[in-house]
Amino acid sequence: MNAIIRTCLVGAAVAAGMAYGAIEIRSDYPGGNVKVDKIDEAANAVVLRPDLRDTRGNWFHWDFTLSGAAGRRLHFQFPKNGCYLASLGPAISRDGGKTWRWLNADGKRHEPKNAFDYTFAADETETRFAVSIPYSQKDWDAAAVRWRGKDGVKFDVLCKSQSGRRDTELLRIPCRKGKAKWLFAFTARHHACETTANPVMEGIIDEILSGSPEGEWIRDNADCVFVPFMDKDGVEDGDQGKNRRPHDHNRDYVAGIYTSVRAWKELLVRESHGKKIVFFDLHSPYIRSHKHDPEQDCAFTFETPYPRNSAHVNEFRRHWAELSKGCALAYDGKNDIPAGKGHAAKMERDRLAGLVTSRQWVEAQPNCWASICCEFGYSLCNGIYSQDGGRELGHNVLKAAVRTASNYRTK
Ligand SMILES: [Zn+2]
Repeated sequence: MNAIIRTCLVGAAVAAGMAYGAIEIRSDYPGGNVKVDKIDEAANAVVLRPDLRDTRGNWFHWDFTLSGAAGRRLHFQFPKNGCYLASLGPAISRDGGKTWRWLNADGKRHEPKNAFDYTFAADETETRFAVSIPYSQKDWDAAAVRWRGKDGVKFDVLCKSQSGRRDTELLRIPCRKGKAKWLFAFTARHHACETTANPVMEGIIDEILSGSPEGEWIRDNADCVFVPFMDKDGVEDGDQGKNRRPHDHNRDYVAGIYTSVRAWKELLVRESHGKKIVFFDLHSPYIRSHKHDPEQDCAFTFETPYPRNSAHVNEFRRHWAELSKGCALAYDGKNDIPAGKGHAAKMERDRLAGLVTSRQWVEAQPNCWASICCEFGYSLCNGIYSQDGGRELGHNVLKAAVRTASNYRTK
C-alpha cells in the first residue's frame, strides 16, 4: 500500500480572494498520515482527520507537516464525534522531527480532545504536528549507532515485511558464555501507531550493554532477541495498524497471515530449546485517559490468567515498581489490569474466538517462564512522556526482569 499523501487544498483561499497556495500540508514521509478536508484561509481554520485505511472503526494516528502560516494563529478541527488528541494535545516539532514538545508542555490536560489552536512564530516557516512523538526506522537506525561494534551484538533480519519491500529488523545479543539457559525476547509495534514502545526497547538494549550487574547477568545467561517493528510496513507507511481488517498483527498468532508473526513464532520455538522464555510485548494504550480508565495515562501491565506464570509476573511488577521510585516516568503497579477486567476481558474473548495475541501465544508455550504485555501512555505516562523518559523506563524494565529471573534456580 502506498501511503504517501501530499495535500495542498487551497480552493477556499482562491474563493476568498487570498494568495494562492499560502498554507501547505504534507505527510509524504515515514509515519506521515492525514486527510485534509478543508483549509479555510479566511477563517484561519484547517479541517482534518486521520486516514484510517484498513482499520475497522475509528482510530487516532495522524502526523503532518504544515508550511506557509508564519505569524498566523490557526484552528485545527478534527471530527467532532471522536478523540484525536493525547491528554497533552499534539506533539510539535519545529526542526523537522528531531526534537518534540507537547502543546501543553506544562502537563495540564488539553481540552477538547478533537481540536487545538496554534500560533506560528513570525519566523516559523514549517512545523510538524503529530498525535504522538513519532518513531520509525530512521530513529531505530540512529539508536543502533550506539550498539554497533559492541561485543556480540548482531544486526539480523527476521523476514521480509508484508509487502516484501522492506526488511523486518531483528537485533540479537547472544549469550557470551556457551549455551544460554534463558531466551529473553522483546517486540514492539504489533500495532503500527504505538510509538511510545520503541524508546523503552532502546533503554532495555542500553541496559543490557551498560556493564551493570543486571546487564552482566543477562550477557552470561541469556540469548536476547528484539524486533522493533512487527508491522514494519505499517510503521513506515503511517498506518493505524490497530484493528486492521481482517485482524491486526497482535491477533494473528493462530491465523498467521503476516510474515513477521509467522517468522517470530518459528524463531521462538526454534531458538528456545532447553531454555526458559521471558517475553515482553511493548505497546501504547488508548490516546488519553477518561474518568473510568486512568491507566491510559500511565505505564501498566496486564495480570496473567495463567497460574503457572503469575508468580513470576507479580515478582517482576514488584521489582519494577521499586526501581521506578523517583524516576521521571514511574511505573507504580497501581493501574495494572486484573485478569477478566476491562481490556483484559476483551483479549480473553478474542483468544477464545481464535484471535490470539503474542503474549497469550508465548504464555501457552511449555517452556514459557513469563510473558508480559506492557503499555506506555502516549503523552502522560505517570509523568510527561519524552523519549528520554521512555528509555529510562526501559532500563528499569530490564533490571526488574533480571532481578526476577536471576533469583530463580534453573535446573
Ligand atoms: Zn497495541
